Amino acid sequence: MKQLRNTVIRAGLGALYFSGAHFLLRPLFAGVGAIFMLHHVRPGRDDPFRPNHHLEVTPQFLRAVLAYLKSRDIDIITMDEVHQRLSNRHFARRFACFTFDDGYRDNRDHALPVMREFAAPVTLFVASDFAEGTGRLWWIALEMAIAKAEAIEVTIGGTPLRLDAATPSAKQAAFDRLHDWLRSLSEHDLRREVAALCARHGVDQAAICRDLCMSWDELQAVAADPLVTIGGHSITHCNLAHQTEAVAREELTVSRARIEAKLQREVVHLAYPYGDKIAAGQREFALASSAGYKTAVTTRPGMVFRESGRHLTALPRVSLNGNYQDARILPVLTSGAATAMWNGFRRVDAA
Ligand SMILES: [Zn+2]
Repeated sequence: MKQLRNTVIRAGLGALYFSGAHFLLRPLFAGVGAIFMLHHVRPGRDDPFRPNHHLEVTPQFLRAVLAYLKSRDIDIITMDEVHQRLSNRHFARRFACFTFDDGYRDNRDHALPVMREFAAPVTLFVASDFAEGTGRLWWIALEMAIAKAEAIEVTIGGTPLRLDAATPSAKQAAFDRLHDWLRSLSEHDLRREVAALCARHGVDQAAICRDLCMSWDELQAVAADPLVTIGGHSITHCNLAHQTEAVAREELTVSRARIEAKLQREVVHLAYPYGDKIAAGQREFALASSAGYKTAVTTRPGMVFRESGRHLTALPRVSLNGNYQDARILPVLTSGAATAMWNGFRRVDAA
């Protein structure tokens, strides 16, 4: 599914760019602004097997996006300001908002310096277990296991399988298969299967979190920057829709309380872990508002529209995606045409 969506968006971006159609679609789909979603920001790597590459952009690409937005006189604003503009229906100027999920240390080292060049505010969405150093970043553990392996043996739905992982393309196919399977499992089964994979292929899963994510002390220093807003991203980074309502509520309220206690600042913005339709729906949107979040962002692709003010805990985002780091696509990305195409030309997708 993810692969299909990437292909659709990539093909769509190319077609739109070369046809100039995004200029024609612009008045309909430009919306009032965009909330950009980023994960890692760091210098590029040449490794041929980079299955999580869509989750990273280079500092140069981030700088190009910011320069483009500035050149178009688009306001770069905080999540608080997004909330205000949508609530007060203040749409005189278009806006962009930059959000970074998971609390990676490279955000501090590679994204913040670029954001500061433009005096551009950022929101960092922190999963409290990640800051604690006990989180499980299973998609990276999976990448590391497959990178080391010649083959992966696994039992899916009672059927023992041996997935080839000898070449970069075989590794990618194995990753896609296992990633989709793992995402379909309950949190308990997901942990068990990933732990087994890590044990078999010598991956230290516990070290990944500490290597990549900022600790509370590091977050405290980063949060002191007036450009930085800290938001919530659950405790364990679980699929909230797979949890009982009580557990999902606890993920939202306890993580918020922990961040507030550790960083001594109010947390009123949320990003749903995974954030797609299988991880966040109507129940989660309602839970987020009752947990006291003023806004919550999904990973559903789309621009923000005037109507989004009625769906403040189901806001769409535009992914700044490592697979499309080409400055020529910026006008397409910010026109909303690509994400509108993916949404079947519906303006708001909050069902
Ligand atoms: Zn996340």
